[in-house]
Amino acid sequence: MPADEFRAKALAWLQEHATPFTAEAADRFAPTLDESKAFQKGLAEAGLAGITWPTEYGGQGLGEDELIAFNEVSADFLMPTGPFVIGLGMPAPTILELGTEEQKKRHIPKMLTGEEIWCQLFSEPNGGSDVASLQTTATRTETGSWLINGQKVWTSGAQFSDFGAILARTDPTVPRHAGITMFIVDMHHPGVTVRPLVVATGDAPFNEVYFDDVEVPADAVIGEVNAGWAAAVVMLRNERVTIGARGRARNNPLGFDTLREIASDVGTSDDPGVRRKLAMVYARETAAAAFGRVLHEGALSGEPIGARGSVGKLAGAEFGLWASDAAEEIVGQDIALLSGKSAKVAKMILAGPGSATAGGSNEIQRNIIAERVLGLPKDPGAADRKTPFNQLKLSK
Ligand SMILES: Cc1cc2nc3c(=O)[nH]c(=O)nc-3n(C[C@H](O)[C@H](O)[C@H](O)COP(=O)(O)OP(=O)(O)OC[C@H]3O[C@@H](n4cnc5c(N)ncnc54)[C@H](O)[C@@H]3O)c2cc1C
Repeated sequence: MPADEFRAKALAWLQEHATPFTAEAADRFAPTLDESKAFQKGLAEAGLAGITWPTEYGGQGLGEDELIAFNEVSADFLMPTGPFVIGLGMPAPTILELGTEEQKKRHIPKMLTGEEIWCQLFSEPNGGSDVASLQTTATRTETGSWLINGQKVWTSGAQFSDFGAILARTDPTVPRHAGITMFIVDMHHPGVTVRPLVVATGDAPFNEVYFDDVEVPADAVIGEVNAGWAAAVVMLRNERVTIGARGRARNNPLGFDTLREIASDVGTSDDPGVRRKLAMVYARETAAAAFGRVLHEGALSGEPIGARGSVGKLAGAEFGLWASDAAEEIVGQDIALLSGKSAKVAKMILAGPGSATAGGSNEIQRNIIAERVLGLPKDPGAADRKTPFNQLKLSK
């Protein structure tokens, strides 16, 4: 189907099923999980989900032009797809790249229709940035299945997830990067306990998750046993692109469209300082989106994103922090009120520091850029890569 025809089809569906963006509509927008699931199902049935993914796994088998057309058209609508962002952005592409045929057929179609929600279980209380120091274990049983024990933390969406992609240590006698395996874990298993963590906005977007003899079958391994670090790298690469390198979305509370609308409402839009700030918001947001688009287009035509994903992630997080300061000046004193049109802006300001940490902090992205894009020497703080894990001195 030509991209123009696809664009028209997407627009027609969205006009019928999604809410057009306005700052006011965005403020009231609070979809339930059931509404989100129904919307995602509708998207998939209309042929608008998994646009570039293979048809045998429920995708549309289309090209980058169609994906870009959809991203552009959908930016003007409020889409209740938040619960699916992690699953479709990270575990799904990892399974498509490294998973078995059975895993792809079993999970990808259900992820696309919203029947399966997924989370990412990497971070632990004693190691976030240093993922390879993880201490959750998976021990093989006599029947070939695995028993998972340990604790994860900051797991976004675990409270409503059906499955998770978890990293666990499967061999402590080898150096820390060599003894890790990635598994698919059923979040409804009785040995899984999910406890919400409340943040400054009053929401509980993420959780601590405990694993107590959680049994997973042998075919739950994603990739190879003890080759989980390679799988983690694939997922982290996808995460950085998902989080950081998005297109310019009209419904971003800290984006130009929202801030301009609020400035007009609160009467600050004639102020020369505010106008200058708005212009800078527009320029920075457009530049970050343009970089994201270059990465996406390159990736879709087979050019590896590699460490450049870290540039996109860093640009997105830096924009969020800078735009938080700009928003305070543009919106004026209304920003202190967690109500009305500026409520979503105020919440984003509170959430800003989190986005500079989620998916790897700004410092870590700068380390990656320094080492892998600019070719500078390795971070001297990195723990010994050759010592067996069980001989390292780690905090308990
Ligand atoms: C909103 C949000 C959502 C998240 N969702 C998930 C999720 O769904 N799944 C999941 O697994 N995790 C998730 N996380 C966790 C996130 O990946 C970690 O918080 C992150 O990796 C940082 O780890 P940490 O919090 O343990 O900080 P630490 O690693 O303890 O770092 C503390 C500080 O030290 C700095 N630092 C650490 N090492 C270095 C170094 N070598 N050089 C320079 N500076 C360094 C860090 O940049 C940071 O500023 C989420 C986090 C947030 C905020």
